[in-house]
Amino acid sequence: MGKITILGSAAAEGIPAMFCNCRVCTEAWKNGGRDRRMRAAYRLNDRVRVDFGPDSFCQELKYQLHSENLKHLFITHSHEDHLYCDLLDYRRPGFSVVAEDNILNIYGNVGVMDAIYTHFAKKRCNFRLYRINPVEIKAFEPVELPGEDMTFYPLIANHMPTEQPNFYVIRHGDKWLMIANDTGYFCEEDWQFIAGLGIRFDVVITDCTGGIRDIRDGHMSGRYVIDTKKRLEEMGRVDKNTQYFINHFSHNGRLTHAEFEAHYNPFGIRVGYDGLEIEY
Ligand SMILES: [Zn+2]
Ligand SMILES: [Zn+2]
Ligand SMILES: [Zn+2]
Repeated sequence: MGKITILGSAAAEGIPAMFCNCRVCTEAWKNGGRDRRMRAAYRLNDRVRVDFGPDSFCQELKYQLHSENLKHLFITHSHEDHLYCDLLDYRRPGFSVVAEDNILNIYGNVGVMDAIYTHFAKKRCNFRLYRINPVEIKAFEPVELPGEDMTFYPLIANHMPTEQPNFYVIRHGDKWLMIANDTGYFCEEDWQFIAGLGIRFDVVITDCTGGIRDIRDGHMSGRYVIDTKKRLEEMGRVDKNTQYFINHFSHNGRLTHAEFEAHYNPFGIRVGYDGLEIEY
């Protein structure tokens, strides 16, 4: 009934990272395809997306996103690879033609709101000019999108201590999705919330920034990726029908796409790449 498109699968620097001469970046130049990664973002449909990093314009071209139709943009946190305010500058007369009633709702935590308000305060412009409506969200308080038959539940990401970053559990019709990049191993409040939902996920996408190294906090990788899946399985939230992915990769993870697959596929975990379409 629905489809998630992975618009980007990299951490902050992208792969190949500019200025970098490491093995993974060298392989990415050589191999192309799935080894080349833009900064992480997701499209649920024409109107709904998650994150808006510095590659948003390239993603617009590559995937024909038609941002003029975008209505609901959910931001996970204010790191620049997930929220690049400068690109929002072009949503105003003189740069783009946007109908008066075409409002873009941007949802995010208080840190995201701060970043947006600070950015536009510098321009001395009001949001009406940009047809942007910033909406502050709070952990575990659902955001309903009745027109889309979707509910977004912001959970707490174990990632950025200066704000309370989020990842999202999403209901779409009778399907359940999780998009969880930029988080370490989930905090206990998240686990309790997920237990209380009493659902089974159709799609899960978790962070795997650090390759096969055992990283627990800030990001997750190695055995913490596998532990997360196991715990979700033990809770009955994930089963053999769940499509389970990892995404948001750094070249510092030291693995090519094929090497990621060789390590994680045996655990029933598939590896995200730019342009991957996940139907559910
Ligand atoms: Zn990131
Ligand atoms: Zn590199
Ligand atoms: Zn981040």
